[in-house]
Amino acid sequence: MIDEIKDSVVADYLHKSEQTPVDVTRSILVFGKNSATYKFALSKTLLEMAPVSEASYAEIGEIFLRHLVEHHKICPHQNKRDGTDLSKAMDKYVANNLSWNEVFGVAEKSIYNNVFDAFHNIGGGSIDKRCSLFEHDKLRKKIVLTDNLNLLQSNDTVKADLLSESEARWRVVEEAWRGNLSPLMLLDEREKLFFTTVGDHRVNLRSAVPTLMPYQFGACFYCGCALKESVSSHDDEFPDVDHVLPISLLVREFPTEALNPNGVWNLVLACRRCNRGTDGKGGSIPHARYFERLLARNIYFTKEHKHAMKYSVLKSLGARNHVDVKQRMQEIYKPFSFFYKWSPRIS
Ligand SMILES: [Zn+2]
Repeated sequence: MIDEIKDSVVADYLHKSEQTPVDVTRSILVFGKNSATYKFALSKTLLEMAPVSEASYAEIGEIFLRHLVEHHKICPHQNKRDGTDLSKAMDKYVANNLSWNEVFGVAEKSIYNNVFDAFHNIGGGSIDKRCSLFEHDKLRKKIVLTDNLNLLQSNDTVKADLLSESEARWRVVEEAWRGNLSPLMLLDEREKLFFTTVGDHRVNLRSAVPTLMPYQFGACFYCGCALKESVSSHDDEFPDVDHVLPISLLVREFPTEALNPNGVWNLVLACRRCNRGTDGKGGSIPHARYFERLLARNIYFTKEHKHAMKYSVLKSLGARNHVDVKQRMQEIYKPFSFFYKWSPRIS
């Protein structure tokens, strides 16, 4: 499946994953082209469908467009180029100047020409047919769903998690387009809470979970145990948002510098046992191997083009590019070289 992928970052991501249908979907959400948000609308449409064997254009188009219009209302930038026929039509529909059937007529032209065929493209290549979620039958105006997709559709937990990751990723991309690439995660100094703004709404730190999850293949950053977004906070699989380097130590070592200890550069998802258990990390510095892993992930982020996560990492580290990120992070880890280093107890 990886042979065809040209971009080394994407190929590396897939190498590290088990290339299950979940991994494939995550790689599409994270690395699929962002020239338009259609892939998010389509992935949500597909995941919400019952595990059937095929679906006609008519069955898909309606739900697809509803997702798109819903987002267009909050963020009218759903395409790299402003003023496409579809975005103009959606504008008019939102302003009650066009009927649903009329906007649907416009949508049909672009959905069926581009969206199905481009869906599996990532990293300058295309996902191998064996791993794809559907095949496009242009002649019969339908798509044929694969077992891979049916598997996702029949597992409610997996489905819920992927839907929330798709939504989170969609908002990250919108945030980048909305205007001048504002950083995704900001800290409210007063409440010491993370939030990201979605329209006029503020969402707290938990909103980082579905955004970070795909980069960790749905596993704890430290011990690798499976994490699930949709379990109760008392469950072992509940993902905690963890500061890799504790805030208190960072503030002590770098009191005056432009370093945001709450920046996304320093955040990962960890299981409860690793984060706050008796043998948990608590206020310790993790072993260098985890810091290397964090560095690699931040490099992923900063290599992304025109992406809000990229700017968030750069800004919170006071860095200009990924070379800076590496240098900066190495400087930050240095003062802690003689500290006790924590590693998870793997049972
Ligand atoms: Zn863990």
